[in-house]
Amino acid sequence: MHGRYLGALWALAAALAAALLLAAPAGATVVSLTFDDAFADQMPAASMLGAAGLPATFFVMSSAVGQTGHLTAADLAALKAAGHEIGGHTLDHADLPTLGPDDQRHEICDDRQALLALGTQAAVFAYPYGHFDASAQAIARSCGYTAARESGGLAAPGGCWGPCPAAETLPPADPFAIRSAASIKSTVGLADLQQLVLSAEATGGWLTLTFHHVCTDCGTYATDPSVLAAFAAWLAPRRASGTAVLTMSQALLQPAAPVAPAAEPPAAPVPAPAAPVGRRPRRRCPAAVTSHRHRRSHHVPARCRAGARGVRARRWPATTYLTSTARSAAARH
Ligand SMILES: [Zn+2]
Repeated sequence: MHGRYLGALWALAAALAAALLLAAPAGATVVSLTFDDAFADQMPAASMLGAAGLPATFFVMSSAVGQTGHLTAADLAALKAAGHEIGGHTLDHADLPTLGPDDQRHEICDDRQALLALGTQAAVFAYPYGHFDASAQAIARSCGYTAARESGGLAAPGGCWGPCPAAETLPPADPFAIRSAASIKSTVGLADLQQLVLSAEATGGWLTLTFHHVCTDCGTYATDPSVLAAFAAWLAPRRASGTAVLTMSQALLQPAAPVAPAAEPPAAPVPAPAAPVGRRPRRRCPAAVTSHRHRRSHHVPARCRAGARGVRARRWPATTYLTSTARSAAARH
């Protein structure tokens, strides 16, 4: 009886493990759907995504909660209960690199405390406008966030076309500078969204999409509800072929690489390849460096930037690339 009971437990454990692998095969593609700025029109989208089995991450400025046109405390509780994640986005949508460390800490850490007081997870953070510096990164880490998302860095319409990767690595090289597709504009249609996923699937890795408003004809950074619903209906079944939709915190828990089934356990643990403690692995230079922002970005090692041997600085057409400054002027995101 005891043996049968143990056997059943093992079978259950194996089934659970298989289910987890099915949900997000190691080394496959993970898509994170993120919604910024706590707009009230995101609630119907959240319900639609929840019904489709697609958990999302909502980046909320705590000072906006309950304000006209924004999510309420009850909305945040409903989002969490539905399996969505709520992360931080500063108190006031601050442009962090313009602030000194004390003000950065106030914006990032006091916002996190306010979100925690509202019962949210507040485990991940998104830099307003995608703007950050080393100080903001360190402060976000110090006040308890596990990761932070920037805006851009992946190939996307209106953002970084060309040599930019289609997906972030899992785990990301820098969890406090997680690359994402540029903020989705109203001109981005269903086919564009599908292409972003297909491109990520071609390489594997982590595609984070950033939405703002979800409404019809309501601004530059807006997605029509019908487009989002069609995208969700197309995306959800791709789980069967290895593309999982996860919150950002769930994505960060994904294993780093495919695990080959072992015929028998190894006799002894194999020491990991020596990587000096405290040093990050040397990153390959991109094929080309596409913008002023990119040239000065920490994503591009100094040895790779314009003027460095073997790297070609390249000017990208203004129609397909907006500098971070221009993006800030265009709309907050
Ligand atoms: Zn924002």
